[in-house]
Amino acid sequence: MPAKRHLHMYRKVKSREGYYKCIHPDCTHVVQREFLDGKRARCYYCQEPYVVTWRALQLITLRCEDCRYKAPKIKKVQKTIQDLINVN
Ligand SMILES: [Zn+2]
Ligand SMILES: [Zn+2]
Repeated sequence: MPAKRHLHMYRKVKSREGYYKCIHPDCTHVVQREFLDGKRARCYYCQEPYVVTWRALQLITLRCEDCRYKAPKIKKVQKTIQDLINVN
């Protein structure tokens, strides 16, 4: 079953330079860096919507400016994915 409409949460694709994919378990969305700049996405960490900047694109997991300098919290990310499944 395809994922319902949602804001994508992006992560760099290791095997393909310049590509990013959505981490939602049911979503197969993949996008190239040049099409992602200036688009709205959901922060990997705080789940808030934000606009992707070239600065966010330097990172493995795309996040908002607020979370840029915070240490990643794995537990919270797992909860985030669980919430996405429940909500969507
Ligand atoms: Zn998605
Ligand atoms: Zn954030």
